[in-house]
Amino acid sequence: MRNALSLCAALLLAAPAARAEWVSRTVDGIMGTRIAVELWSDERAAGEAAIDAVMAEMQRIDTNMSTYKPDSELSRLNARAARAPVQVSAELFDLLATSMEYSRITHGAFDVTYASVGFMYDFRAHHHPTEAQIRQALPAVNYRHVQLDRAHHTVRYQRPGMRIDLGGIAKGYAVDRGIAILQARGIRHALVSAGGDSRVIGDRFGKPWIIGIRHPDRKDEIVTRLPLVDTAISTSGDYERYFDENGERYHHIIDPRTGQSARAVRSATVLADTALRTDGLSKTAFVLGAEQAIRIYEALGDVDAVIVSPDGKVHYTSGLKPADAP
Ligand code: ADP
Ligand code: MG
Repeated sequence: MRNALSLCAALLLAAPAARAEWVSRTVDGIMGTRIAVELWSDERAAGEAAIDAVMAEMQRIDTNMSTYKPDSELSRLNARAARAPVQVSAELFDLLATSMEYSRITHGAFDVTYASVGFMYDFRAHHHPTEAQIRQALPAVNYRHVQLDRAHHTVRYQRPGMRIDLGGIAKGYAVDRGIAILQARGIRHALVSAGGDSRVIGDRFGKPWIIGIRHPDRKDEIVTRLPLVDTAISTSGDYERYFDENGERYHHIIDPRTGQSARAVRSATVLADTALRTDGLSKTAFVLGAEQAIRIYEALGDVDAVIVSPDGKVHYTSGLKPADAP
């Protein structure tokens, strides 16, 4: 026994001291965006393996939920659900149910059926649907006409031409899944982000993580900086995917009432505990305007926001208002 113990001690002394360090990686092209992970790991190899696991999870979610992939579970649902109920995985069912919840909270500003019109926009090709095309497709935009049957895990679209796109919530969901994977591996300081959706656990070098909110027109200019610890944050902006035509900006956040790009604000940043929640809520102000969005957030109680309106004014929920703000 004694020998075994001293052997152990000798081995411990001989092993190189494990050195904790920051490990980070960014990958472009998963979920159509940039994924970034940064974490504090007791050992580099374990940190790299944790990042591999997060990236694999993001890839898995993209494969199941992208509408750009004709074979994804969501594409198959879109192809069939207007004709008959379609059985889906528990994961997709739950994300659809959560999406409906955010539609109700935001009085329909968040609505994944926006895609019934939204699929006709191509921001890269500078293409938008005509008024007539929008008029024809708009009756299919309404989350109330998505029938979810929890007992059978089936989904039925009650309008012809209805389509769903999860581009406004799947990244938030994926970020939370990434954080859960890191926490299960014992990681206590990390940032995971997918495009405009991020979440941090713990702090960074004993200080908060700092996330800057950029100016809507000048990408190197910061409107405000937010110190974050154990928070999720999502920013939606009209400068992410857009083109300008005849003085109008066509961009990727669609007003479900009109089928047009939602122009009530220029950017909206939302903070809450999970990225699912911040992603589900960050589109609201584009459709309803800063004041109404802030009323919704304050009533929820666990949500803060910074919103930039078209005149450049910065609006804050009361939890974030700087001392010198009017
Ligand atoms: P990011 O894609 O960078 O996370 P957002 O969180 O602002 O940006 O989400 C924008 C995406 O949300 C759009 O590209 C589209 O897929 C989807 N979307 C657009 N309008 C709506 C809407 N009214 N409700 C729900 N999702 C929407
Ligand atoms: Mg988002």
